[in-house]
Amino acid sequence: MNNLLVMKFGGTSMGSAERMQIAAQICRDQAAKRPVLCVVSAMSKITDLLLDSLRKAEAGDRTDLSANLKVLRERHEEACGKLLPASHQAKAAAGVAELLAEFDRISNGVLMLGERPPRAVDEAIAIGERLSSLLLATYLESQGCPAQAVNGASLIATDAVFGNASPLADATRERCDTVARPLLEKGVLPVVTGFNGSTLDGRPTTLGRGGSDFSASILAAALDAEELWIWTDVDGIMSADPRLVPDAKVLPEVTYGEAAELAYNGAKVLHPRTLAPLVERKIPVWSKNSFNLSAPGTKIVPSITEDSHGPRAVTSIKNVAMIPIEPVAGGISGTRLMARAVGALAGANAEILAITSSSYRQTFCFIVRQEELQTVIGHLEDDLSLEITHGYVKPIVADENVGLIAVVGEGMRGSQGLAGRIFSAISREDVNIIAIAQGSSESTIAIVVRREGLDKAVRAIHQECGMGVAVATES
Ligand code: ASP
Ligand code: MG
Repeated sequence: MNNLLVMKFGGTSMGSAERMQIAAQICRDQAAKRPVLCVVSAMSKITDLLLDSLRKAEAGDRTDLSANLKVLRERHEEACGKLLPASHQAKAAAGVAELLAEFDRISNGVLMLGERPPRAVDEAIAIGERLSSLLLATYLESQGCPAQAVNGASLIATDAVFGNASPLADATRERCDTVARPLLEKGVLPVVTGFNGSTLDGRPTTLGRGGSDFSASILAAALDAEELWIWTDVDGIMSADPRLVPDAKVLPEVTYGEAAELAYNGAKVLHPRTLAPLVERKIPVWSKNSFNLSAPGTKIVPSITEDSHGPRAVTSIKNVAMIPIEPVAGGISGTRLMARAVGALAGANAEILAITSSSYRQTFCFIVRQEELQTVIGHLEDDLSLEITHGYVKPIVADENVGLIAVVGEGMRGSQGLAGRIFSAISREDVNIIAIAQGSSESTIAIVVRREGLDKAVRAIHQECGMGVAVATES
């Protein structure tokens, strides 16, 4: 079975009975041509609601917890009622009630403990996806398309990093061969929960927020799928955020490398870890819009053959902070200090979005996500406490009034003068550049500016590099 199509439907594409009907129609159209496995997110906003409920439970806030549980029940009961014909109502309603009872049970446990054990959280929040997969699979069945809801925990094997687990490829492949493949061979369409997995000894895990894309790519790789289609609510990967840059355009094709860079640097369309599992088997991915079926979408491919010169897209992230590490002249090995600082960031489990230094003997700095800042500073202060106390390193003061821009394109490699043009375009807008970094692959240039200049700088770069929709010129 080498013509398998894996499709993933995001939260908005599963957001209501009407949206689920469209998702189901897409599944049936494709299933008429080839085997299909689909991966679903929870209905939009449900994961937030589940997480919030667990926080309320931990805080002992019974009233708010039951208000949340009521919203959770109503949203799914309404979808169930509108979606399914009478013949399939009772069975689905019983399934929904069972899953809701499971969430009640866990949140009551949290309420009694006054604590949210990470493993219990992962078990509880995957219930959002279990509800949506149950609804979609039952609806497909009711339409005469054999389908079965499958818990992703029975397919995706992961390490035990609760809340942000990583997949174990070999074990996942084995599980897929025993659980998913027989269904596909029987002509049944598995509707798999995105977002979750389990450890080798069966403890429930999740893959991080927005992780359903990642689930879909893990499964596509494990089952040697022919293609992966990711359905969202935008037309594809764009040259810039259209809310910032009105003439931003959808890119017909980008490479795995470009798409990953864009995702890691703030483009919301894909979960950053999605592409890694597909690289080895070169499985192509389409990013498509379930709200605009006639839009072709963006194809993400191993490499682009046509000559693509220059950058293809520019993204930005507002919620970042810059942490400078400043050695006091002399007396300490800069290399060793840098190693210790990077070690501290690893200890904090933080992601380094960019790292810059003109000379590590003077200052080097890290750009990290603002939500990770406090943890990172804590780890840096602990790990460098001796150096700071003895005055070898200045006390660490982060700068939160910054934003990060990434200009991305594999075609930038070897193209001279580009950095100059980008920097001139930014300075014409009167925006000061604080730090810059370009890796030697030359496919991303990262630029740190004051936050108030961020949007202006993004627009200036987009225009300077001609990334937007071509404007017809009068002749
Ligand atoms: N439902 C999960 C979340 O909201 C996973 C996903 O939607 O991809 O994070
Ligand atoms: Mg989502």
